[in-house]
Amino acid sequence: MALIVQKYGGSSVADASSIKRVAKRVAEAKRAGHDVVVVVSAMGDTTDELIDLAQQVTPLPPQREMDILLTAGERISMSLLAMAIHNLGVDAKSFTGQQAGVITDEAYGKARIIDVTPSRIRDTVARGSVAIVAGFQGVNPSTNDVTTLGRGGSDTTAVALAASLKADVCEIYTDVDGVFTADPRIVPSARKLERVSYDEMLELAASGAKVLVLRCVEYARRYGVPIHVRSSFTTHTGTLVTDQPAAEGEIVEQPIIAGVAHDRSEAKITVVGVPDVPGKAARIFEVVASAGVNIDMIVQNVSVAATGLTDISFTLPATDGAAATAALSEHQPDIGFASLQYDDTIGKLSLIGAGMRSHPGVSARLFAALSDAGINIEMISTSEIRISVVTRADSLDEAVRAVHTAFDLDSTEDEAVVYGGTGR
Ligand code: ADP
Ligand code: ASP
Ligand code: MG
Repeated sequence: MALIVQKYGGSSVADASSIKRVAKRVAEAKRAGHDVVVVVSAMGDTTDELIDLAQQVTPLPPQREMDILLTAGERISMSLLAMAIHNLGVDAKSFTGQQAGVITDEAYGKARIIDVTPSRIRDTVARGSVAIVAGFQGVNPSTNDVTTLGRGGSDTTAVALAASLKADVCEIYTDVDGVFTADPRIVPSARKLERVSYDEMLELAASGAKVLVLRCVEYARRYGVPIHVRSSFTTHTGTLVTDQPAAEGEIVEQPIIAGVAHDRSEAKITVVGVPDVPGKAARIFEVVASAGVNIDMIVQNVSVAATGLTDISFTLPATDGAAATAALSEHQPDIGFASLQYDDTIGKLSLIGAGMRSHPGVSARLFAALSDAGINIEMISTSEIRISVVTRADSLDEAVRAVHTAFDLDSTEDEAVVYGGTGR
C-alpha cells in the first residue's frame, strides 16, 4: 500500500463527464488499497476566462481581488470531484489551499510556498477518505489573505504536498502521455521520454515546456520527490522525472539531447544609441530590475567607433513589457540613450540535453539545421545543458520541427496524441 498524490490538470476535469472519469480513476486507486490525495486544477480554461472577465470590469484589477477571483476556479472543480467520488461509494472531502495548510509568502499572483502543514489532509486520509485539495492556492499567514502561485501552480501544490506527506510518488495527470522530446501539438512525431533527470526537466520547464511548471520541478528536486507525468485519458505508463538510477536490468538510453522546447511568451526590448562608457549597462538593468522585471537573454552590439554609441537588446516576459518600457523611458535623460524599440513578435527555441556537456558540435548542428530551413537567428544564449535562440515568432514552429529532425528525435512509431485541452 502506497501514499499517492495525484494531480489532475484543467483539461482532465474540463466538464462533468471528465470529472466522473477522473473520479473513477481515483476510486480505483483507493480500492486498490492506496491512500490517495488528489490535487485538482480549475475546469478547462476557467482561469483564463476569469482573467478575461476581470479585464472587462477594469484594466487594472487589484491583485488581492484577482487572487480571490482565481482561487474560485479550483473550488468549483474540487467540490464537484469530491461529489463524483462520493457517488461511487468512496468517501471524499475537498479542501481549499488554506484548509490544506499551504502557507505562502505575500506575493499575490506569484506566491511562493514557504510551508505545508497538512494536518487535516493527514487526518482525512487516516480515516480512510480521499482528500481533494484545490491546486494553485495558499494563504499568507501575516495578512490571512488567499494567494495564488502563478499560472500552472497546481503542479507545485501537488509536489509540495507529496513532499510534506512523504508520498511514494506524485502523479501528474494531463492531456498527453508524458514528457515528449517536443510539444506534441507542434511536433506530432515527438517521442515520449521514459525518464528525464531533474536538471533536464528544469531546463525544459524554464524554456517553455509547460507540461510541468518550473517551480514544481525545483521543489521535486530539492525534496527528491519522484514525479510520474502521464495521461488521465489512458492507462499508459508516462515519464518518470527522477535522479534515481534505473533498476538493475532496466535499459535506459542516455541520449545526448532530451528535447526541444519553445516559448512564445517573451518580448525583446532594444535600447538604441547607448553611450559606450562603463556603467551604462549596469544602470539600464538596475532600472529594469527595480521595476520588478526579470530578464532572460542580453545582447550588446559592437559599438560604432565614429559615434561611440552601442545598442543593447534583452528579452523579458511580454507581460512585463509595459513596466520595463515605462521605467526605461523615465530614465532616458540620465542614461542618455537615443530611443527604445519593443518587439513582441519573437519566439525562443531551446535545445536541452545533459549529454551536450561532453559532446562537441551540438551548437554547430543546431545552427546548420536552422540555416538549412532558412531561419534567421536573432539572439543566442547557452547554459551547460541548454542552447537557446531567438527567431521570428512566425518561424518558431518550423524551427522546432527542423531542429527536432536534425537531432534524430523523430519517432518511427505512432504519432504523439493530444487527448484534450485547447492549448490555451
Ligand atoms: P494541464 O492542464 O494538465 O496542467 P498543461 O496544458 O499545463 O496541462 O500542460 C500540458 C501541455 O503541455 C500539453 O498539452 C502540451 O501541449 C504541452 N507541452 C509542451 N511541451 C511539452 C513536452 N515537451 N512534452 C509534453 N507536453 C508538452
Ligand atoms: N488553474 C491554474 C491555471 O490555469 C493553475 C493550474 O492549472 O495549474 O494556471
Ligand atoms: Mg499545467
